[in-house]
Amino acid sequence: MSSITENVARVRAEIEAAALAAGRDPKEILLVAATKMNDAGRVREAIAAGVDICGENRVQEMLEKQAQGAYEGAPLHFIGHLQKNKVKQVVGLASLIHGVDSLSLLEAISREAQKRGLVQEVLLEINIGAEPSKSGFAPEEIPAALEAASAFGGISVRGLMAIPPICHSPDENRPFFLAMRKLFVDNGRKKYDNVSMDFLSMGMSGDYPAAIACGANMVRVGTAIFGARVYHK
Ligand SMILES: *Cc1c(COP(=O)(O)O)cnc(C)c1O
Repeated sequence: MSSITENVARVRAEIEAAALAAGRDPKEILLVAATKMNDAGRVREAIAAGVDICGENRVQEMLEKQAQGAYEGAPLHFIGHLQKNKVKQVVGLASLIHGVDSLSLLEAISREAQKRGLVQEVLLEINIGAEPSKSGFAPEEIPAALEAASAFGGISVRGLMAIPPICHSPDENRPFFLAMRKLFVDNGRKKYDNVSMDFLSMGMSGDYPAAIACGANMVRVGTAIFGARVYHK
């Protein structure tokens, strides 16, 4: 068995344990493989090993790997920071865009989706740690963003996403994860057109069991599946 196959099995087992411990059905948790910097062959191995979804960060890398057939057999999500000038390349290709962090990006996606006659599914990214270095909506901006999204055409908001501050132990993130769940539940109560709060995307290699304990139903896992990424200078 390849290490990717073993790693996916181990991550799945941990997802299942975390879900059961929280009294949840493990099947409701979707495993997004964060595939950045892993080539098409390694992405295919992860799909064969049973990840639910592939998540890419960089548009150019995604297009190259897409052309190589890397994602066949799994849905493709865009999980990185999306620049407005790259919206055209991602709309319609990624079935879900996780990191929609501003009204102007939402509007750009809406415009492109309408031009192509499709509906793009998105998650709103929340800056849950109120970090100046991070983009994302502040919690109090969510209702206005949902209001705006429901008025734009070509957009379907499917939930919320967050990357909490870097912490030194997985449990340090729990307050942020719990705050996200509350926002997810509270903002899901009010009904808006084209909004359905289905997905709460949070948790990465270092903290996905804690995120699941706090209500995540989509975890984005890279290192625990593929090993450490090698960054070339
Ligand atoms: C890289 C990345 C992940 C996965 O990170 P790991 O710590 O390697 O699991 C998750 N979400 C986003 C947005 C990422 O860019």
